[in-house]
This record gives sequence, structure tokens and C-alpha cells, in this order.
Amino acid sequence: MFRAMVLGKGPYKPSSAPFLFRWMWGVPPGPEVGPEWPCPQQTCMQSRRSSTWHPRWTGQVSMPGGTRQSPINIQPRDSVYDPGLPPLMVSYDAASCRHVRNTGYLCQVEFDEAAEGSGISGGPLENHYRLKQFHFHWGAVDMRGSEHTVDGHTFAAELHLVHWNPMRYQSYQDAVVGEKGLAVIAVFLELGTTHQALQPLVDILPQIKHKDTQVALSPFDPSCLLPACRDYWTYAGSLTTPPLAESVTWIIHKRPIEVAPSQLSSFRTLLFSAKGEEEAAMVDNFRQPQPLMSHKVCSSFRAPGCEQGPDISQST
Ligand SMILES: [Zn+2]
Repeated sequence: MFRAMVLGKGPYKPSSAPFLFRWMWGVPPGPEVGPEWPCPQQTCMQSRRSSTWHPRWTGQVSMPGGTRQSPINIQPRDSVYDPGLPPLMVSYDAASCRHVRNTGYLCQVEFDEAAEGSGISGGPLENHYRLKQFHFHWGAVDMRGSEHTVDGHTFAAELHLVHWNPMRYQSYQDAVVGEKGLAVIAVFLELGTTHQALQPLVDILPQIKHKDTQVALSPFDPSCLLPACRDYWTYAGSLTTPPLAESVTWIIHKRPIEVAPSQLSSFRTLLFSAKGEEEAAMVDNFRQPQPLMSHKVCSSFRAPGCEQGPDISQST
């Protein structure tokens, strides 16, 4: 699946794309194959590339293939309520938190993948998935930043908690590109009051300003970043960064959490660039919504679900 999805014509050239593979997913790039959406018109190719490919993903790589690419625009009225979806069970081991690092594309908090009891089960998942890392996507300005959108609405940022399937795969690296290999919880961030539980991470960001820098962070239990309302949408999709593998069961919380404008601004002080390079602010590190195609989105709730209003988890 990996080779069929990622690659274009000619030899693969070193670029920042391998960097993303290595730092985000631990997967090396492979040889290239032809695009799955051939189009003889160069303008068509360029148009397709601009919507599927982030400008930071440089290198000789063609458009991804597949019919389950993420993110997507969620249309609640078209989602299907599944009364058989059980609640999602979340239990993380704060002591398994290891580092926060600047990957050159986003900031990522990593966990010991051998911590067996730290992860999620229930919901749309067949078995327990183990926590590996979480990271954020955000914009240059408040009006954009999330990857998924809801009825066309974009949030200021989006949190992704990435888990892998140890029942099917020997390692996280294998799971990244495998069928039902990953389960990712997505949480939208909107501007509001200070999120106290996020602050320890915000405080550490100045220490990872440049690409390739990391600093120890432990203990940290990311369940404090989940909204109190556990209503979610779920669908089978893909990674939103290379290798864009269609290995992900997405679990997207309906309700956002609130963060203070100053907290979000702290993320924008990070840099895409390494020390010694021309400084480039780390902003707009999100992928555009992809065509729905064969996506079927299920919901754990019958509309309207949890009542609207301030989310009580922000005070924790
Ligand atoms: Zn992500």
C-alpha cells in the first residue's frame, strides 16, 4: 500500500519528505511508482497537487492515490448515527511520556510505545490501541488551522492523539502503513479561556524552537486535553502527512476544547527551520480537506448530542 500510494516517476531524491517519514512515523521512503490519478494535463496535475500536497512536503513525490484520504469536511447531517458504537475507553500512563520535539513540521509529544496499558479501546475499535504520540496542527491566523472541518467551519487548531494496533502489528512502524494500523483521536481547539492542563506543554515550547530539537517531558497524561463531551464522529481514512497511508481509524470529537489566544500564539513561535537556517515560522502546518469519495462517517450520538456551551474540561 505504501509504495502504491506515495510515489512518482524517477529516482527518489533526498528532501524534507524523508525527514517527515523518519520523525513523524519512523518509516523510510521507498522507490517511486506512477500516480494513481493520471492526468495528461499539466494544469490538472498542478491543481490536484496543490490541494493534496502541502508546500512544506517538498521533493519528487507525486499525488497520493487511494479513495480514503484525510482530512475531510464532516457534514453532520450526512453522518450516520450508529447506536452500536460503544463509548470510547481512554486510559493513559502519564509516566510513559518521554519527549516533546520539533519535527520540522509540527510539535510532537512522544510516549514509550511499549507501555501496554496506555491507550484506547471501545468505540469503533476491535481491540486495544496503544498510545504513541500526540501533536498539533495550527494556522498563521486564528481563522484557520484545523485539518478536519465541520460543515465547512475551520477551527484554530487540531490535536491528534496517535495510537497503534499491537494485535495486528509487531511495531508502531509497521502499523503506520498497515490496514487498521492506527487509531487517531482528533480534538478541535478554539479560542477562549486558558487551558490549564495544556500550559506545561506551552511553557516548554521555547526550548524546541528549532527543527530537530527536543526536550524531556514527563509525566504528562494527555487525557486532560479531551473535551468533557465524548460525542464523536468516526470514519476510515489516512494519515494527513506523508506517507499518507490509509491506515487510520479516525475518532473526531464533536466538541472543541478552549485555549487562550496567548497559548495558541506560543505554537506560532516555533520554527520550521533548523538552527543556522533562515527562520521560517511554523504555521499553517495542516493539509486541506480531501474529497469525500467513499468515506462513510458514523456518529456516536443522535443529533444534537451534548448540549452546547462551555466545556467543563477546560478548568481541569
Ligand atoms: Zn496530525
